[in-house]
Amino acid sequence: MPQPRFARFAIALPLYRVFEYALAEGDKALPGTRYRLPFGNRSCTGILLDSDRASEFEPSKIKPVEQRLDDEAVIDAHMLELARWIAEYYLQPLGEVLFLCLPGYLRGARTQASTRVKRWKLGPAASDDPESLLRRSPRQLEIVQALAAEPRGLTALDFKVINPDWHAPVARLEQKNLIRFEWSEPESAPLPSPILPELSHEQRQILERIEPQLETFGAHLLDGITGSGKTEVYLRLIRNRLDAGRQVIYLVPEIGLTSQLIERIGERFGEAYAISHSGLSDLQRYRAWERFRRGEAGIMLGTRSSLFAQSSRLGLIVIDEEHDHSYRQEDGVRYHARDVAIKRAQMLNIPVLLGSATPSLESLNNLGRDHYHRYRLDARPTAFAPPPLELVDISKSRLDSGCAAATLERIGQHLERRGQVLIYLNRRGYAPIVLCHECGWQAHCFNCDARLTLHQSVSSLICHHCGFNRGLPEACPECGQVEIRHYGIGTEQLEQGLGQRFPEVPVLRIDRDVIASREALKQRLQTLAGGEPCILVGTQMIAKGHDYPAISLAVVLDADQALFSASYRASERLAQTLFQVAGRSGRGDREGEALVQTRFPQHPLMQALRRKTYRDIAAGLLQERQSYGFPPFARAVMFRADAVELEQAMRLLEKIRDELAAAREYSRLSCIGPLPALMTRRIGRYRAQLCLLAVDFRVLRSVLNDAMPAIETLAGGGRASWSVDVDAYDL
Ligand code: ADP
Ligand code: ZN
Ligand code: ZN
Repeated sequence: MPQPRFARFAIALPLYRVFEYALAEGDKALPGTRYRLPFGNRSCTGILLDSDRASEFEPSKIKPVEQRLDDEAVIDAHMLELARWIAEYYLQPLGEVLFLCLPGYLRGARTQASTRVKRWKLGPAASDDPESLLRRSPRQLEIVQALAAEPRGLTALDFKVINPDWHAPVARLEQKNLIRFEWSEPESAPLPSPILPELSHEQRQILERIEPQLETFGAHLLDGITGSGKTEVYLRLIRNRLDAGRQVIYLVPEIGLTSQLIERIGERFGEAYAISHSGLSDLQRYRAWERFRRGEAGIMLGTRSSLFAQSSRLGLIVIDEEHDHSYRQEDGVRYHARDVAIKRAQMLNIPVLLGSATPSLESLNNLGRDHYHRYRLDARPTAFAPPPLELVDISKSRLDSGCAAATLERIGQHLERRGQVLIYLNRRGYAPIVLCHECGWQAHCFNCDARLTLHQSVSSLICHHCGFNRGLPEACPECGQVEIRHYGIGTEQLEQGLGQRFPEVPVLRIDRDVIASREALKQRLQTLAGGEPCILVGTQMIAKGHDYPAISLAVVLDADQALFSASYRASERLAQTLFQVAGRSGRGDREGEALVQTRFPQHPLMQALRRKTYRDIAAGLLQERQSYGFPPFARAVMFRADAVELEQAMRLLEKIRDELAAAREYSRLSCIGPLPALMTRRIGRYRAQLCLLAVDFRVLRSVLNDAMPAIETLAGGGRASWSVDVDAYDL
């Protein structure tokens, strides 16, 4: 009997170990292919890692695989290497990382759809004067003539245009050997040659500096004020790479308001791009992934996970708005797409281009390192510079729809001068607080330590953390008092209030509740693009990325929360948001203004925001971080646990801490906790955390290397579970 062959597999479960199975006879055992594997009393999908190693197990105990799902690898050798790096760096199970790298469509047992097409060309017999041969078959002659005019060949789609009933004549011609088909890979579409804007002096200089470095690894930070033409620089570099036969991944934080960008890319690159984001179906995203993998699309434009698009000739990764937090995945496999992109570029020896008007403190701090370069764009190609931030003191004023009288007056002025107005309020719904005046009862979520938000449009109280919702109570559930009031303001109420106040212009709301309908979003964006006066109201979605030249006033309604936040990142985030929001205004031929409402105009950060540039503020914040020993001057690793009781979560983290404490270099790092998490109860589970901080990352690594093998086997007991977050965002 022939010896069975064994292979190791990573499976899509949060388990750190890999599993061995026996392969069928004759299996080629290609690393990166998917198999159905028996697992317990069910089956699961696994990815073959390697084979023909000496097994640690008794051969008769190793189960055979159920079925091989792929003929060719779905994870190429480079992606396998990158996944191993992610698993190791972020301490995440390899199986989970590998399945994260695949489009959702391929995470189960679905087979790869074929993207091959039949392409017909003239056959060997066609050289014998087909005209006379086919004189009595005009339909066949038509097809032969079309093929003679197109040496690349024609597909079924092309034939359909020539003759809807193309099957019969084509079959006859094939029999006569006048034509034949071959299976062909879809070809990449030709690039159009649009008229390009003349580059500014600054843009040209930057291109001249970056272009000679495109064949090697480098992290290029394009630090350019809002509206300075960063996108134009990306597009030129992308074109350069495509012309060199390479492919490009272009990441953006959110696709919501980027329809403008998609149009711009379409004009530049025709059909040569693929798009992937969470608004698309699994099949659509898979097709995009496949088109890019096959080289049919030169550009992959998308959100975070598009970074895992595979290509054998990747030549550049662009990360727009590199400071944006949406590049961090906060559940499942925790990773930062910007940091993984830099690693990927380094492995492939290609450049990565990071762009932002408000670069992250991490990237600014990295500028001192080898292979990091900064380029600055200090002016807009258009008429006006981004507006300074003007503070509106609301400590003593009565607010009407969340706006001070001075703010409303300014909105009126801009509308009168036919400008568009953008109002940023990072709170969706109608009102964030619902309470009884009689007894003090407040509407709280049953599952979370959080208030319920009033959503008037659907007459419900909704939890923004778990989605729990209930109808509006007729009377106070505690004392029966019928007058229940709401406080505070969300985008829904703002839209309503402004609509009453400015009935002559449309008020467009854009937030997660609206964006659920693509059509509603499209309509609103069309109105904005039309350039007529209107008011745009929305959450963080409207704060970034877009370029609507008629917007002349940007207003931030409530900036104060960040001043008293427990997060050490709050100041950085606030500065980024305010400069981004302000930067949406004054992009056209009207000078822009930006207002920030605050109850604390004298707060040092507010004063800095008013007077200084982002770069100066960032430099100050970096100094602060250094003196407190916070990231990026220290590295943070966070263990989190959750359970049905707080006690269980805390106990699990204590066990983890004990394992860490046994490591050789433990005394060289600081360990904070375990402590209950800031929002202790969320989605029905109690949460606690344990934070490790070290100035020297090698110390952190060494402790984790010592302790992880034991920690990986720690089951919660009593349904507690834990996760680990390397380079944790918030402590
Ligand atoms: P950023 O990405 O820095 O916010 P964009 O690339 O979107 O800026 O440019 C802002 C606006 O300026 C866009 O409308 C763009 O078409 C225009 N623009 C960019 N570069 C030039 C240029 N060299 N000449 C004229 N207009 C330009
Ligand atoms: Zn009451
Ligand atoms: Zn909840």
